[in-house]
Amino acid sequence: MSSNGGDRITPAASSAGPRYLFSVDVEDVRHMVSGGDRYRARVPELTRRYCDWLESRGSRATFFVVGDVARAHPELVREVLHRGHEIACHSNRHIPLDRQTPDEFRRDVESALAALAACGVDRVVGYRAPTCSLTSETRWAHDVLAELGFTYSSSVLPARNPLYGWAGFGGHTRRMPSGLVEIPISLASFGPLRCPFAAGVYFRVLPLPLVARAFRRAINRDTVVGYFHPYDLDAEQERFMHPGLGDRHFLNWLMYRNRDRLLARLDRVVAATVPITTYESHVAQLADAGV
Ligand SMILES: [Zn+2]
Repeated sequence: MSSNGGDRITPAASSAGPRYLFSVDVEDVRHMVSGGDRYRARVPELTRRYCDWLESRGSRATFFVVGDVARAHPELVREVLHRGHEIACHSNRHIPLDRQTPDEFRRDVESALAALAACGVDRVVGYRAPTCSLTSETRWAHDVLAELGFTYSSSVLPARNPLYGWAGFGGHTRRMPSGLVEIPISLASFGPLRCPFAAGVYFRVLPLPLVARAFRRAINRDTVVGYFHPYDLDAEQERFMHPGLGDRHFLNWLMYRNRDRLLARLDRVVAATVPITTYESHVAQLADAGV
């Protein structure tokens, strides 16, 4: 038992070989800015592009879907499911956990599950908190998720971060006292900076040789955990400021950097021989191994 109330699952204990837990957080950035409806809907086309890329490698991955997106595009959720990928939950309205009470959080997740069920997704075992907002202060969310029947969460960014982070959690997957498995986002060190490297803006903005080296080192040791969003490969979207980034120009510039090169960068960094798998199958293998 660790000081964080969970048992660490070491790479040796979880050794099914190196693997990349690739995921897409299917959210619509138009919902995060006022007046966003005046912009074009881009999520379906962009989500399908990830499916195409995965299928070109013969891989399946996990798509964490926001309830609002499931209600707006039920046909998209059905398609992703039928193309063999895992559908998991990314909240109902993408509200960070620290802006909710435990009861509000429970209702939010229940609404999201209802939206996914209406799309024909009757089995959801995974959850990712909006903006990786599960921290030491909102650790109660793990218990709520276990009570709702989830088997895993991938909601912790285990470092200090401008938005959210839980540095004390540590970098390894842990089984929490409730039995829920938390799979934190993988980090690497770049000088004094410790941050994700196989995920979203970090993957797009960091110099490619550094990302490739970090990925090689990590995948040889352990599972690599990362996330992307539909907007991460959208070079055609109208540019607008993100209030969640304080409307700061530099941070908003980062939001658009290298979107047109995302898939090409993935092809350079993630060797064709690197297995990509769903979070659900990874967690099932941990359970089979008795960890
Ligand atoms: Zn998100």
